[in-house]
Amino acid sequence: MAGKGKLFVVSAPSGAGKTTLIRQVLKRFKTLSYSVSHTTRAPRSNEEDGLDYFFISPAEFEEKIAKGLWLEWAKVHDNYYGTSKSFVKACLQKGKSLLLDIDVQGAEKIMASGLNPVSIFIMPPSFEVLSQRLLNRGTDSKEVIEKRLVNAKTEMALKDLYRYVVVNDDLNTALKELYSIFKKEMDGE
Ligand code: ADP
Ligand code: 5GP
Repeated sequence: MAGKGKLFVVSAPSGAGKTTLIRQVLKRFKTLSYSVSHTTRAPRSNEEDGLDYFFISPAEFEEKIAKGLWLEWAKVHDNYYGTSKSFVKACLQKGKSLLLDIDVQGAEKIMASGLNPVSIFIMPPSFEVLSQRLLNRGTDSKEVIEKRLVNAKTEMALKDLYRYVVVNDDLNTALKELYSIFKKEMDGE
């Protein structure tokens, strides 16, 4: 499946700032494509179908599991999330670099797949800051935030599986660190 394009996998506990950071990385590196995932969770008010996610029903998602259409999929915080096999395959065959924003379960599957991804884990500076960011974001209910914080502990325990760990304390510092990782890994394309 691999051409000369690189596959980047970025994971983080919910609220660490991954979406904020990735948006800037995609603006900066114009040749980097983004893999829009499919999910069964409800869209947030600021999200657009086809841009942030493809929002589909659990029945549609399960049908695609049965047909083997996912490169990887996982149940995260009680919802299904999946990466389209055909999209990733087409990008890599064209030699395009691709960024996957996926959870630790999905990342482990990609790492074991032979696709040799550049894996990056975004850490919050502390658990307290993580909790505060989720509250400040104001997009999730108290119950959803509690579930995400419980899952965060398990996810952060797996950070050493990744090639790079970036702490998102000061946003600009974290961005600079990410830019230098992407620049280094994409050089020679
Ligand atoms: P994730 O995609 O990892 O769930 P978001 O990118 O949605 O996280 O960020 C969670 C919240 O934290 C958002 O309100 C965002 O504006 C804020 N945030 C992100 N990075 C920082 C930072 N370095 N310092 C302070 N707030 C941040
Ligand atoms: P959110 O609901 O906050 O957008 O995302 C929740 C979690 O699901 C995040 O950790 C995000 O990286 C992960 N996620 C998003 N898309 C996918 C995907 O296609 N596959 C997997 N395994 N995880 C995903």
